[in-house]
Amino acid sequence: MRLVFECVECGGHYLPPEGMVYPDGPASPLWCSSCQTVRRTAGESEDPLLARIALAAARAALARRAAEGVEPAAGRGDVRPSRPPLSRRARSGPGGVRSKLG
Ligand SMILES: [Zn+2]
Repeated sequence: MRLVFECVECGGHYLPPEGMVYPDGPASPLWCSSCQTVRRTAGESEDPLLARIALAAARAALARRAAEGVEPAAGRGDVRPSRPPLSRRARSGPGGVRSKLG
């Protein structure tokens, strides 16, 4: 499962690659890819302490989601129904039971 971060710059949620590495360099736990590009271009680097806090927060959120069994919507395109389809028995209702008693 991948970590979801909240960009401290634009407030948007983003999902860096699992290894925290983009094809063109390391991913930041503080900034989304576009804000990171802007910051890097401006010659700024992330605060290592804030980065560690952001990483720990993302890990805690991941553990919470794992415990609840909820995957981030931005994950794989694997959409499952929220509940299983009704079985034949559920559709027939209590009538099936009664016919046996009679
Ligand atoms: Zn951003």
